[in-house]
Amino acid sequence: MQPSVGITTGRFAPTPSGPLHFGSLVTAVASYCHAKSMKGKWLVRIEDLDTPRVTTGAADDILLAIEAFGFEWDDDVLYQSQRFQIYQGYLDELIQLGIVYGCNCSRKKLLEKPHHTGPLGTIYGGYCRHKHQQLNNIKLRLNTEQAGKIEFTDQYYGTINRDIDSEIGDIILKRQDGIYAYHLAVVIDDALQQVNYIVRGADLIDATCVHLYLNRLFGFPDAQYLHVPLVKNKYGEKLSKQSGATALSVENPEKLLLKALHILGQNTPAELSTYKPVEILQYAITHWDSKKILNHSANSSVNDTD
Ligand code: GLU
Repeated sequence: MQPSVGITTGRFAPTPSGPLHFGSLVTAVASYCHAKSMKGKWLVRIEDLDTPRVTTGAADDILLAIEAFGFEWDDDVLYQSQRFQIYQGYLDELIQLGIVYGCNCSRKKLLEKPHHTGPLGTIYGGYCRHKHQQLNNIKLRLNTEQAGKIEFTDQYYGTINRDIDSEIGDIILKRQDGIYAYHLAVVIDDALQQVNYIVRGADLIDATCVHLYLNRLFGFPDAQYLHVPLVKNKYGEKLSKQSGATALSVENPEKLLLKALHILGQNTPAELSTYKPVEILQYAITHWDSKKILNHSANSSVNDTD
């Protein structure tokens, strides 16, 4: 696998299913400081693929919030909802390779059969792999029989490997309702945007093995990865809209930025509390040390409302 070259390019890729919450702020701070500390670019991509899950106005709210927090992004914001033709073009390449198949197994039917669960959820038993069903108006899956084991080195978690076929299974590339899968879109966008340093939440670490497999199939260069430990609520759940994370107030961005930096193990000297958001981020970029991201602090629960 060839690592990608060129200027360091990082990105923040929120899904606009709700407003910015503290967990996403932490990820944004980490990816921003990481890219900027290497004099790189930092892009923002709105992952609004799953149109039924998108909340009206959430993308704008997220952009306004990150602006209020002092982030300055490079290039235009990219919206996945405007890129369906691009995703279809790459999906067609996989279809040409003969590794995509139509699947009409319902989720209910799959759960009724004996099944294993892997890091990305239920492992599909491959029932439709060799049925040669037509590919219209049906779920499309990637045949991972030949994928083998994929390994990479995460800057925080070290060596990660997964046998794609047995531990993850045939992932969905396009749903029956025509929605392209996150795994497909994310590798295409990261490659086309020349993102070469991906900093994101640790919940995506296993998915990265799938992304690297897709990269190989498309001939895309590999990025480097830094998965950041998840910020959890007091019940030990990842902060998310589903777990009831509250929208961040932009009334006092300085306080929340300092809290995010603290959770990321970075130094936050007392004088920073008098700085403006842009100045806090500038300080954080200059002093950024990804080795300081401490597991214990990131794993400790936060009250995201205070
Ligand atoms: N859109 C995903 C999220 O909001 C992040 C995807 C990624 O960083 O690859 O959780």
